[in-house]
Amino acid sequence: MATRNILTIGDETLRKKSRKVENIDERIKTLLEDMADTLHSTDDGVGLAAPQVGVLRRVVVIDMGDGAQNFINPEIISSEGTSANVESCLSVPGGSGTVIRPEKVTVKALNEKGEKITVDADGMMAVCLCHEIDHLDGILFVDRVIDKVI
Ligand code: ZN
Repeated sequence: MATRNILTIGDETLRKKSRKVENIDERIKTLLEDMADTLHSTDDGVGLAAPQVGVLRRVVVIDMGDGAQNFINPEIISSEGTSANVESCLSVPGGSGTVIRPEKVTVKALNEKGEKITVDADGMMAVCLCHEIDHLDGILFVDRVIDKVI
């Protein structure tokens, strides 16, 4: 078990664009394990993107309560509808605000074995995928919030 330090808003790494993963090597596998450990060490985190632990690679780990799921090079390939939800972020301690996202998304990615996966998500999973994929492009939810961040 190894947890990594979570960067918080103001750190310029969170604003950079992450690079695609070309090879799922030991380094990426360790990153995935550490990201899951880090996510599980938080009180209420459901998702974590690699830039949040200072690694500018397109890697996301999500756990909606049924185990960590890995997304390498995730891409939203289609979306539908709109939905307003209150979001928060491990990199914005104590902050939350309403963000409009698609209601449903289809995301393609690779899993930790390098297999292609396609996920159809709605509800919190859709919100979480959009939020985490934003992190890979240096976007934080506070950039999209439609009300005051509290
Ligand atoms: Zn976040």
